[in-house]
Amino acid sequence: MFQKCTVCSAPREVQESVNLQLARGVRMIDIAKAVGISKSSIGRHSLKCLPRLTLEKYAKNFTRRRLLITWKNTVGWVPEAGKYPEVGRFYLWDGLVPIEKKDIRPDDATFVVEYAPRLVSPPADPPPPTS
Ligand SMILES: [Zn+2]
Repeated sequence: MFQKCTVCSAPREVQESVNLQLARGVRMIDIAKAVGISKSSIGRHSLKCLPRLTLEKYAKNFTRRRLLITWKNTVGWVPEAGKYPEVGRFYLWDGLVPIEKKDIRPDDATFVVEYAPRLVSPPADPPPPTS
């Protein structure tokens, strides 16, 4: 039968104090004496619960930034994506997937491509193969 961790079952202040002391490198025997929880319980907590708690905290605060790309004045054939992107449209960098402006997130990073005038025409790249 699954048994809940003694430290995790303790009041929040006790958990936080134990976690803080563990993080500071206080000896488990000293933490155990101070909070009245057995050293083995604190040992189990530090081995099994702390890594999970750390990951959960990290996952909650972490939102993956996306990289977008857009072309301002002209586009060429993008061989990696196998397509001609549209001028002014936004694409996810990965796979050059078109994305609507309303779906752009505040933390997205956008790579804006603008060619110098002498490069605007004619497009030097070959047209995509038609099948
Ligand atoms: Zn625990």
